[in-house]
Amino acid sequence: MTIATTNPVNGQVLKTYEAMSDEQIDGAIERTDLAYRQLRDTTIEQRGRWLTAAADLLEAERNEIARLMTTEMGKTFAAAKAEVTKCATACRFYADRAAEFLADEPADAEAVSATRAFVRYQPIGPVLAVMPWNFPLWQVMRFAAPALMAGNTGLLKHASNVPQTALLLEDLFRRAGFPEGAFTTLLVGSDAVDRILSDPRVRAATLTGSEVAGRSIAQIAGRELKKTVLELGGSDPFVVMPSADVELAAQVATTARCQNNGQSCIAAKRFIVHTDVYDAFAEAFAHRMSALRVGDPMNGDTDVGPLASERGRDEVDAQVRDAVDKGATVLCGGEKPSGEGWFYPPTVVTDLNPGMRMWAEEVFGPVAGLYRASSYDEAIELANGTSFGLGSNAWTRDPQEQQRFATDLEAGAVFINGMTTSYPELPFGGVKNSGYGRELSAQGMHEFCNVKTVWVGEGTATAGAGSHSE
Ligand code: NAP
Repeated sequence: MTIATTNPVNGQVLKTYEAMSDEQIDGAIERTDLAYRQLRDTTIEQRGRWLTAAADLLEAERNEIARLMTTEMGKTFAAAKAEVTKCATACRFYADRAAEFLADEPADAEAVSATRAFVRYQPIGPVLAVMPWNFPLWQVMRFAAPALMAGNTGLLKHASNVPQTALLLEDLFRRAGFPEGAFTTLLVGSDAVDRILSDPRVRAATLTGSEVAGRSIAQIAGRELKKTVLELGGSDPFVVMPSADVELAAQVATTARCQNNGQSCIAAKRFIVHTDVYDAFAEAFAHRMSALRVGDPMNGDTDVGPLASERGRDEVDAQVRDAVDKGATVLCGGEKPSGEGWFYPPTVVTDLNPGMRMWAEEVFGPVAGLYRASSYDEAIELANGTSFGLGSNAWTRDPQEQQRFATDLEAGAVFINGMTTSYPELPFGGVKNSGYGRELSAQGMHEFCNVKTVWVGEGTATAGAGSHSE
C-alpha cells in the first residue's frame, strides 16, 4: 500500500513517502531499545511532566492538528478538534493517575508464609503499535499515554493513509521532552510488521484494526512468544425495548451510527427494535438519518464527511447492493453518489436475512441495519448472533431488564440508555472476534507491565521459606 496523504474530498494525492529501508528500521529499533533503558529509570513524576507537556502542546495546536486529520481521512473538523481534546485529557489522566496505578499492591503475607508480599508493576520494553486511520490521534494516544507512563517505549506503524499524523505524533512526544527514541514512527507498510515484531528487542505488540490484521499479528506474536493486545472490528447491537424513550433512542442512534462518518469500531451498526415500538423507531430513525448533511468536512454545517478511501466506500456500497439484490428494503439513502470524493449517504436497510453480507459482516460506513424482535429473548439472540463482541447498547427504563442486558449481551461493554464511547477511566476492549486485552483505565496500563510477584521471607531457619514448589 502506498504511504501517502490523499484527500478523500477529491481524491487528490497531497504527499507521498518512501517506506523505510530495513537498515532504517533496525536503527529505529536500536534507538528505542536504548531509550527504554533510559526511560524505565526515570521517575513517574518526570514522565508525568513530559506527558502533561504533550497535553499542553495538543491543546495549543488543536486546530492545526485537527485540520491535518480532516485532510488525511475526512472526519469533520469539529470531530477532529474533539479528538485532539480527548487525547489531551487522556494524557493528563495518566500523568495524574499513573503513580496510583503503578504503586506496589500489598498481598496477604500471612497466607503465603511471608513477612511481606506484594505485586510490583514494571515496564516490559519497546512495544510495537499497529494502528488504524479512523481516529488517527486517539487510537495511538490511548496506547501511548499509559505505555510511556509505565516506562515502556513505543514504535508506531500507523495506517498508510495517515503518514503526516503519524509523524506529528513522534514530533509531539519529542517536543514534550521524552528522550530521543521513546516514541518512534516507522513509515512502513504492513509487510514490515513481521520483521519488526520478530526482533528480540521488541517485547510486545498492540493492534487496533481489522480481524485479518489481528490474525496475522497474533500468528507472528505466537511464534515469537510475545504479548499482544488486539482491538478489532465490531458490529455493535443497539437494542430498543418498549419502555425506551423512542425519540431519544432514535436521536442517539443516528449519532451512534454516523459519528466519524460511520467509521468507528464501536459505532452501533445493528438496530434491533422490539416490535411494539418498531414502526415508531423506524420512522424517527430514517427521518433523522436522511436529514444529516453530507459534504465538505471542513464546513461547520456538515454532519457526515467522505469515507476515508475509495476502496472503503466501494465496500460499503457493495454490502448494501448485496442486501438489496437479495430482497432487503432501503428506508433512506443507499445510492452511491457520482462526482468527486468518497461520499456515501446515511442509509437505513431493513428486511435483512442471514444470507446477506450485512447480516454477518461489519459495515464501516454510515449504514444501519434495522431488525425487528418480538421478545427480549429474540433481541438477545439477534444481538449476540455475530462473531463480534465489542460494544453494545440497550435502551430500556425497566431496571430488571437493564440488569439482564448487562449480563446477557456478549460484548466488552454494555451501555444502557446511551451510546458506546470510550473514557480514560473505563476499560475498553472486546470479546469473541473483536479481540482481547484491554486499553484505558488501570487495566490498559497493566497490559504492558510485568506484573511481578515479590515475596520476602524472614531469612531465618525457623521461618517458612515456601511450603511447596511447582
Ligand atoms: P486494517 O486494514 O486492519 O489496518 C489497521 C492497521 O493494520 C494499519 O496500520 C494497517 O497497515 C495494518 N495492517 C493491515 N493488514 C495487516 C497485516 N496483515 N499485518 C500487519 N498489519 C496489517 O484496518 P482498517 O481497515 O484500517 O481499520 C478499520 C478496522 O479497524 C475496522 O474493522 C474497525 O472496526 C477496526 N477498529 C477497531 C477498533 C477497536 O478499538 N476495537 C478501533 C478502530 C478501528 P496499512 O495501512 O499499511 O495496510
